[in-house]
Amino acid sequence: MSTIFKKIIDREIPADIIYEDDLCLAFNDINPKAPVHVLVIPKKEIASTDDIADEDKELIGHLFTVIRDLARSLNLGDGYRVVANCGPHAGQEVPHLHYHILGGRRMTWPPG
Ligand code: 5GP
Repeated sequence: MSTIFKKIIDREIPADIIYEDDLCLAFNDINPKAPVHVLVIPKKEIASTDDIADEDKELIGHLFTVIRDLARSLNLGDGYRVVANCGPHAGQEVPHLHYHILGGRRMTWPPG
């Protein structure tokens, strides 16, 4: 069964997409937890960090250069947080690998 993020990739459901290339997609989170809350996802269906294969190394590196560039274009020069929830204890809701970019306010540490 397709995840909600696969449906966004396939344009079966709408999303506020702010970046796309051959390998990934970035869109605004539907329930933002900060003034800037963007999700960056690979188009390849990888369920979580735990499901990343060795052959995905280049893809994961690409996602982080996209995150870097998006943070710059979103004016997050004061700092931002990149979060990947993995599995039930981390509260992962959508079983498609995604990186949250959170910014536009000061973050607290440690996260809850
Ligand atoms: P997780 O808890 O799995 O790390 O994060 C999933 C994120 O996806 C949540 O922040 C949630 O608000 C977001 N989300 C869930 N469904 C949708 C959707 O249909 N559209 C968008 N744009 N974001 C979604």
